[in-house]
Amino acid sequence: MLNQTFGHAAFRGLQEAVIGEVLAGKSALAVLPTGGGKSLCYQIPSMALPGLGLVVSPLIALMADQVAGLRQMGVAAARLDSTASPAERRETWEAIEAGTLDLLYVSPEGLMQPSMLERLSQLRLALVAIDEAHCVSQWGHDFRPEYRTLGRLAELFPTTPRLAVTATADARTREDIRAELRLEGCLEFVDSFARPELILSAERKTGRGRNRVIELVQARRGRSGVVYSGSRDGADSLAAELAEAGVPALAYHAGLDKQVRADRLTRFLDADEAVMVATIAFGMGVDKPDVRYVIHADPPASIEAYWQEIGRAGRDGEPAEGITLYSSADLSWALRRIETRELADEVRMVQVRKARQLYAMLEGMGCRAAAVRRYFGEDQVEPCGQCDLCLEPPAAVDASLAAQKALSAVHRLNGRFGRGRVVDHLLGKTKEPTPFEAGLSTFGVGTEFSPAGWRDLIDQLLFEGLLREDPNDGRPLLALGDGEAVRAVYRGERKVGLRRAPEAHDPTTRSGRPRKSRGGVPLAVDAADMALFDALRAWRRQEAARQAVP
Ligand code: ADP
Ligand code: MG
Ligand code: ZN
Repeated sequence: MLNQTFGHAAFRGLQEAVIGEVLAGKSALAVLPTGGGKSLCYQIPSMALPGLGLVVSPLIALMADQVAGLRQMGVAAARLDSTASPAERRETWEAIEAGTLDLLYVSPEGLMQPSMLERLSQLRLALVAIDEAHCVSQWGHDFRPEYRTLGRLAELFPTTPRLAVTATADARTREDIRAELRLEGCLEFVDSFARPELILSAERKTGRGRNRVIELVQARRGRSGVVYSGSRDGADSLAAELAEAGVPALAYHAGLDKQVRADRLTRFLDADEAVMVATIAFGMGVDKPDVRYVIHADPPASIEAYWQEIGRAGRDGEPAEGITLYSSADLSWALRRIETRELADEVRMVQVRKARQLYAMLEGMGCRAAAVRRYFGEDQVEPCGQCDLCLEPPAAVDASLAAQKALSAVHRLNGRFGRGRVVDHLLGKTKEPTPFEAGLSTFGVGTEFSPAGWRDLIDQLLFEGLLREDPNDGRPLLALGDGEAVRAVYRGERKVGLRRAPEAHDPTTRSGRPRKSRGGVPLAVDAADMALFDALRAWRRQEAARQAVP
């Protein structure tokens, strides 16, 4: 079947093992990378085993694609979804009842309708496949409540093998999938997440980074790519800007009319050179082999989302790039969105952790591909030798003392100022410092760095959660971040590293010349700081204890 129906020479990765398990009548969870060929894992058993193979899929477009592809290859496949006409439904049911259909694609809500279950229970089923199984987990980034009902399939079809497949599963999500879909006793197949054809890089952006995106796309003319934007408006405006620059770019997001979306998707799939500027509404199941790059104009929500989104490049196995632009403001926004969403505390914590893990990877010092694979639970991973960090290893400069100065300044300024003013304060450049400010021992202690050097360091502190700012405020103020972590830096127990030596202060420029300040000596931790932190911590404890009393 692999050769004759699907025209492939050999199985890939764990395909054969997964198919073997299902043919042996057992249920399984298979985690294979995007483009790894998960569909075959249920398509071949559905054709090989007697009875109908049921495939649960989250998106109508995805089902339509697969069914059309299968029919072209002569496989008896159909779908029952909300868009089918009564005549189509009747025809499909006739084929099902005549036993001539090998594969039936259904949505989770369609499948779980009592009338549907009733009719299916009269039939012999080859297997039930649950595609994109991570949709069942609220730890994932594509949670769909309807998927939760699929756990009942275990009782409804106790003797039918069930196969859950996904590209996205850290250990936690995997556990969740197994528990929710009642796959506890089953084998788990987890393929390597290596995608040697993907060349990864990431860079901090200044502002919204629009010009940088246009530059990156223009340098890749003649090839196809996907640019991910964090918002619909952003996708529309960026596509327009690219089109103005002469790039065949189209926007794609959930706010567009269905027909427009379908039309743009077809144009993208068919063109030799096409750029899709899209939100995350674009992607699941998009199979264009020659996507040569994926650029994140705004960062994704997690490492899982990152891997899945850049995984759409290089499906033909030829080299392709994944380029991510990000800023500390993006992180602040991400955290803010998680904070303001209605979520269970536990889910909120996981989402915050995932956002932080993503930024830790983006800000990382070692091989990016290795970092991602370790995140997915692989150990013993070699550096890829081709990502930006492998090609140009960062310097890892110890900036702990400077970090102490910056934290101390923010602490003393008591969350009253934004970045620019904090930098001026450190440089002793504030034009008219209030007596309060000029009297602080941090005023003018930072003359060793340039303003850009300090801004870099402040970014670093924001990425590490040592500082925070509220992006919702038009002029965000800097405040201290996680108290325990700040304290550890103060005490010298935690180092703060920079990827490159910060720009030094240039005393020859007039604007950079520091004012004479009282106490220009570098200060690290002084007794006052320690006392304040102790007091703060004691107060937090009391507060927590007070709130714990009902
Ligand atoms: P995903 O795991 O992302 O769902 P798909 O099942 O959509 O991946 O398959 C991705 C592409 O890989 C398809 O074009 C498919 O035809 C191709 N493919 C799947 N298995 C093989 C194989 N054994 N050899 C070559 N190509 C394959
Ligand atoms: Mg798939
Ligand atoms: Zn690398």
